[in-house]
Amino acid sequence: MKISKTEKRLRQPIVVVLGHVDHGKTTLLDKIRGTTVVKKEPGEMTQEVGASFVPSYVIEKLAEPLKKVIPIKLQIPGLLFIDTPGHEYFSNLRRRGGSVADIAILVVDITEGLQKQSIESIQILRERKVPFLIAANKIDRIPGWKANNDLPFLETIEKQRNDVKVYLDNLIYNLVSQLANLGFNAERYDRIKDFTKTVAIVPVSAKTGEGIADLLALLAGLTQRYLETRLRFAEGPAKGVILEVKEDPGLGHTIDVIIYDGVLKRNDTIILGGINGIIITKVRGIFVPKPLQDMKVSKYDLTPIDEAYAAAGVKVSAPNLEEALAGSPIYVIEDESKIEQYKKQIEEEIKEVRFYNDIDGIVLKADSLGTLEALVNALQREGIPIRLADIGPISKRDVLEASIVAQRSKEYGIIASFRVRILPGTDTNGIKILYSEIIYQLIEDIKKYINEVKEMEKRRTFDSLILPGKIRILPGYVFRRSDPIIVGVEVLGGIIKPKYPLIKDDGRKIGEVLQIQDNKKTVERANKGMEVAISIKSNAMIGRHINEGDVLYTDVPKEDLEILVNKYSSSITEDMKEVIKELIKIKRKEDPLYGLGLQI
Ligand code: GDP
Repeated sequence: MKISKTEKRLRQPIVVVLGHVDHGKTTLLDKIRGTTVVKKEPGEMTQEVGASFVPSYVIEKLAEPLKKVIPIKLQIPGLLFIDTPGHEYFSNLRRRGGSVADIAILVVDITEGLQKQSIESIQILRERKVPFLIAANKIDRIPGWKANNDLPFLETIEKQRNDVKVYLDNLIYNLVSQLANLGFNAERYDRIKDFTKTVAIVPVSAKTGEGIADLLALLAGLTQRYLETRLRFAEGPAKGVILEVKEDPGLGHTIDVIIYDGVLKRNDTIILGGINGIIITKVRGIFVPKPLQDMKVSKYDLTPIDEAYAAAGVKVSAPNLEEALAGSPIYVIEDESKIEQYKKQIEEEIKEVRFYNDIDGIVLKADSLGTLEALVNALQREGIPIRLADIGPISKRDVLEASIVAQRSKEYGIIASFRVRILPGTDTNGIKILYSEIIYQLIEDIKKYINEVKEMEKRRTFDSLILPGKIRILPGYVFRRSDPIIVGVEVLGGIIKPKYPLIKDDGRKIGEVLQIQDNKKTVERANKGMEVAISIKSNAMIGRHINEGDVLYTDVPKEDLEILVNKYSSSITEDMKEVIKELIKIKRKEDPLYGLGLQI
């Protein structure tokens, strides 16, 4: 794909498609690709990795009937659509303070209006400062709609009955008011006077192809008009972003890269972010898919090229890419003396997203820099504290960090995982792990968990806690040897109450206190110094599993101990404190985290 110098003035805008699940993102992209294949001139189609190119002449052909409304003579060479829709993928198109994407299509099922992920998409687009327009999809589902395949919207709408037009207008009006609530002015695109102040709504059907011409013409027209500086092509060394890291048969580890500026050539020295630090390497090969002459060529058949001009999606093979970080910037270094400067820049960019704070917050692990960043931003919006944000599988360290937090703030003592699994052999130690492959789902799950724990803790009053207690079976006071055991005991420290579970000093479970009698009178508690008779519901037998003179402890659950120490420390007597210390020693043998971090 050689482009002459004069044509190189503006590069093709990079377009992403976002929206709620099932609103038609995939179908729309398929339709756009399909339409392009039909209209393109044979052999002229360039191939991209992870993206699809729609040449300008195709857009001009399609938009011919719309000339009066969208008078365009395109200077951009075309539009580059990122193939995978959705903001999980979009988030990896990072670029300092923004996005590599120049414009976005927010697909909204017009019959449903904005849904959760539509709103989340808008938030992410806002954060990354990406302008967008709305494809109000599925107009063919409007009652009474007469489909006119592939016609521009402005033509097909004229062929509809009046009540159908009114119906559509009402749906659009609903969308407009939903957007107004989010602070946007929006309007059907052909009624907009100032596109810098109004979000354009293009009614389309990804199924029938109606409105696709309007959508493409508007995208091209708006980007070349309003994003000209951004699209001005620089001849210099390539700048790009890593979309995905893959292992390819015959090529080893490769990176799929979107180049948004400059030229990438074979043998170029490149610098990029890696899981364990910056990677500097040399481009061994640049690849694009083989042209799809017929459908038999697999998408994965690659062909090498010598150079790639922005904007382009290419696969790059080079040594040492195993640890390359998806979502990291990638730059070509022309001048070796600039290595340090690039290194610092990339390091700083990555540090903003991967971080550690010594606070009580959740541990967050994600599969790429982009998704991690999107999650961090979303959690910050929700006011949820983060202790550790990092990339890669869940490790021992993550579990340890979450455990430390769990001791003090149980609600935050969790690991939230976005598309990463636990390293084999890692003991999760009872730490709650929330997993999802959808950003908003993970955020919802985290919020739900935190609220549930908070609610539960609120309900846990002092009276409901199992408190530490230590008793000794008085020799000569065994009234019944087996279930229920009835013995006389002395309370050595702390407190006992009916329903408290008991353990031996080796941690073995003995049973549960049924009743306590003090001088033949039933009492609800006994504390240090008291000698009382107790009955114990138990499978153990005196003389076999326990003996006269044995010491028993109440089996205080970890959470109860934490709540007691953190919330009711003033109720802990000196003797109870001693019991707690002994209990921790006993319980630690089974649970190394028992009582960890508590200030007693
Ligand atoms: P995504 O999850 O946003 O990628 O949604 P899909 O593209 O997978 O579409 C979800 C469902 O809606 C599929 O069954 C599509 O066939 C259907 N669909 C998508 N666009 C249209 C449309 O314009 N009209 C109609 N009637 N159905 C559509």
